[in-house]
Amino acid sequence: MQASIGRRQLLAGAGAAILLGGLEGCVTTLGDSRKPTPKLQFVPVRASTDRITRITVCTRPFRAQGPRLDTEQIGSKLVVHNYGHGGSGWSLSWGSSSIAIRKALASGDRDIGVIGCGALGLTSALLLQRAGARVTIYAKELPPNVRSSLATGLWTPDSRICLEENATPEFKRLWEQMARESFQTYQNFLGLSGTPVEFIDNYFVSDEPASLRRRAVADGRPRFADLQRELLPDLLTQGADFAPGSHSLGSRYLRRSSLMMFNLASYQRLLLGDFRTNGGKIEIAEFHTPDDFGKLREKTLINATGYGARALFGDQSLTPVRGQLARVIPQPEVNYGIFYRGVSFVPRRDGLVFQVVGEDDYYGFNDDTALPDRGEADRAVNTIAGLFSGTASSG
Ligand SMILES: Cc1cc2nc3c(=O)[nH]c(=O)nc-3n(C[C@H](O)[C@H](O)[C@H](O)COP(=O)(O)OP(=O)(O)OC[C@H]3O[C@@H](n4cnc5c(N)ncnc54)[C@H](O)[C@@H]3O)c2cc1C
Repeated sequence: MQASIGRRQLLAGAGAAILLGGLEGCVTTLGDSRKPTPKLQFVPVRASTDRITRITVCTRPFRAQGPRLDTEQIGSKLVVHNYGHGGSGWSLSWGSSSIAIRKALASGDRDIGVIGCGALGLTSALLLQRAGARVTIYAKELPPNVRSSLATGLWTPDSRICLEENATPEFKRLWEQMARESFQTYQNFLGLSGTPVEFIDNYFVSDEPASLRRRAVADGRPRFADLQRELLPDLLTQGADFAPGSHSLGSRYLRRSSLMMFNLASYQRLLLGDFRTNGGKIEIAEFHTPDDFGKLREKTLINATGYGARALFGDQSLTPVRGQLARVIPQPEVNYGIFYRGVSFVPRRDGLVFQVVGEDDYYGFNDDTALPDRGEADRAVNTIAGLFSGTASSG
């Protein structure tokens, strides 16, 4: 099966040794018959800081114990929580929302309110409709002005989903269920007009062979759970290695894998459109305390307020993890992603995405600074540009 590779594997070059043997490097010649042409030719990314159109900053809603999916009676309302998915909110959305709607429908109600219109609110609302419920979404903001709109847009189901120490067998079962259900549901969005979802090749690029690469050192901080390799091995592609000389990125070592990518502009539009077409209603509303839910007509609610739950419910277990994207003018002919020197490049059709992701998942941890950092954006773009210097990379 063609499938995705985990973020941590993406960062670690899939943890596999670069296989120098068996690589087919130099097979064709063009012009100069003495100079071999590498087999793998990359269309240069026009990575240049003057092509940055937007810098966005957003906080991942991380909970050390994983997403909140319990049910709570608040006054006359039954509230099913569906928030706290860290860096995996899009990736787990269908599976997590499927669990939340089962709990909501168990109340017997068929008129259900969904608080929030991000990844989790939208998928909860659509799944409720498919189950025959009448749904109203109540939210302060709608796409494209929700935090979910500012995500990278990759299927990364265990990215900052919980701490390793909290990944109990029960949590692992729940996570696997959410991840598999989401993965399968996303297949239904492949090949649609507007390309809401697609698979891309992603290249982990290193200046050194795997044997010389620095391994992460334990620094005493709790580790984030790494679940994909253990629980979804069948959804990972084999990967392929490219040694220097076998590709057009100079003397670097490459590992290729497949990743599912979400073109969030068209994907969110599709979800919102489907919700409205199915008769869904949307009301703009801001809630300051859970008691404000009392004025809603529905007795059963799904709370999908994401990081907003920290203020609304006083949930201090939500930790912000800052992430910044530099958005660059789209370049449709580039259809591969790159990870190089702590920077991720994603070829989204609604704008190329460059992002400093740092050395580990603590990058941006407990940082809710919303101010864009131009220096960081330039660093992200220039790091990728460095791969193409010597080729026609600038625009
Ligand atoms: C830089 C970055 C990159 C990321 N990349 C990825 C990725 O590649 N793949 C992936 O799967 N995940 C990724 N994530 C994580 C993902 O974006 C989140 O997990 C996800 O967006 C959370 O969605 P949500 O629906 O819970 O919250 P949100 O998108 O924040 O939606 C919350 C909704 O609730 C509403 N709301 C909040 N509070 C109130 C209130 N008091 N009253 C009324 N309405 C309220 C908001 O207006 C909004 O409509 C990334 C996150 C960041 C920051």
